[in-house]
Amino acid sequence: MNLLPKKIGNFFGLIYEQMFDFCFLMVYNRDMISEEKLKILTESAKYDVSCSSSGSARKNAGGMGNGYVAGCCHSFTPDGRCVSLLKILLSNDCIYNCKYCPNRLDADVPRATATADEICQLTIDFYKRNYIEGLFLSSAVYKNPDYTMEQLLLVVKKLRTEYGFHGYIHLKGIPRADERMMTEAARFVDRMSYNVELPSEKSLKLLAPQKSKESLLTPMKTLATQTERFREEKRKGFVKGYFLPAGQTTQMIIGASPEADGHILRLTNALYQKNGLKRVYYSSYVPVVRDKSLPEVGAGQLREHRLYQADWLLRFYGFSVEEIVEENENLSMEFDPKCAWALRNMHLFPVEINRAPLETLLRVPGIGAKNAYKIIEARKYTKLTFEDLTKMRVALKRAKHFITCNGKFFGAKNEHAVRGLLTAAETQESAEQLNVFGMLSTPQNALIALHGQL
Ligand code: SF4
Repeated sequence: MNLLPKKIGNFFGLIYEQMFDFCFLMVYNRDMISEEKLKILTESAKYDVSCSSSGSARKNAGGMGNGYVAGCCHSFTPDGRCVSLLKILLSNDCIYNCKYCPNRLDADVPRATATADEICQLTIDFYKRNYIEGLFLSSAVYKNPDYTMEQLLLVVKKLRTEYGFHGYIHLKGIPRADERMMTEAARFVDRMSYNVELPSEKSLKLLAPQKSKESLLTPMKTLATQTERFREEKRKGFVKGYFLPAGQTTQMIIGASPEADGHILRLTNALYQKNGLKRVYYSSYVPVVRDKSLPEVGAGQLREHRLYQADWLLRFYGFSVEEIVEENENLSMEFDPKCAWALRNMHLFPVEINRAPLETLLRVPGIGAKNAYKIIEARKYTKLTFEDLTKMRVALKRAKHFITCNGKFFGAKNEHAVRGLLTAAETQESAEQLNVFGMLSTPQNALIALHGQL
């Protein structure tokens, strides 16, 4: 607790605030988490990237906070990670032995387990102090899957029903735990996620032997079916309340196992199509653990970044996975996936900006989804010129090789020259996007990095 008075204007106000802090301490002291425990449990959670709060439409029904307020958890680091949730594990004391994980059973690391009330109290304290807007709660498998899930359920249930917390909650589910606890938890939280972890059953067997494809995919499928059923029943007025209003996400570790990007993106596509996932997060493998079955170097941020770009093409640009990359191949590191596709299909370009349909505009490198819609709207009233495109912040450095404006073309004359110029542009932009300070150097680059406009 911070006992220092804030600047609230007058002497009595300061006294009042100190007294309030003191009383708060006296009442809640029994459930305060120790600093050491807090450090261990937040440090241990940092490798999980599957947290983003967008998409919840659940409104406040009385109490504190609101999971759906615009601006809630919309801060992202350059690689897309969301930063205003309290991100913590309930326990890092794991009975499993996933080889890549710093919390695995064999690891010699400090262990800690929090009680449900400690997590609840911490969330409320941080929320009231405006440090966080929501909670991302996960856990190692402590004692057994059912016990861990029971404790996680207790936290979210208490937060909603006893502590009156209506802020955003993202809960990680525990594979192999009783399905009924998962279903109950889904009624208290905004989002749930079960991590796929590794992109194939073979790799799971090798690196996470206590997990299986089935134990990870079955809860996702069940939740998808239950969400659909709940929505239908709510439409008919048979049920009230919420059931995962912000849907499900998952996370895959990239580069700890040998699967190619083509394989990873096919799995991603299947998860979007079959389980209705909101997001698949990619976490490039970081070699914090030494094991002979693990690579000595990480996958690198650029590979992770390329996968996110390809993911956007699948979700917002109308690309099929087959168009992006062959199953056994990796994405190009040299060009972003849309540029790489355009270079393989130069016979389809240039396209006339004043006539091309939306689906075609979305495939032009340098024209993001927002700009494609803007172009369609603007050309109802006028014939667009290159100056108009510059004002719209179209990345002409790339787009000019693939478009004409009223028949005018300012791109390079042949494919070889286009490649050379795009490589130069790409190298400069990639370097800037992967650097948080560089990312902010131009509005165009910030937009590309944060929103995936390609
Ligand atoms: S289940 Fe595996 S990945 Fe999760 S905390 Fe335990 S060892 Fe780590």
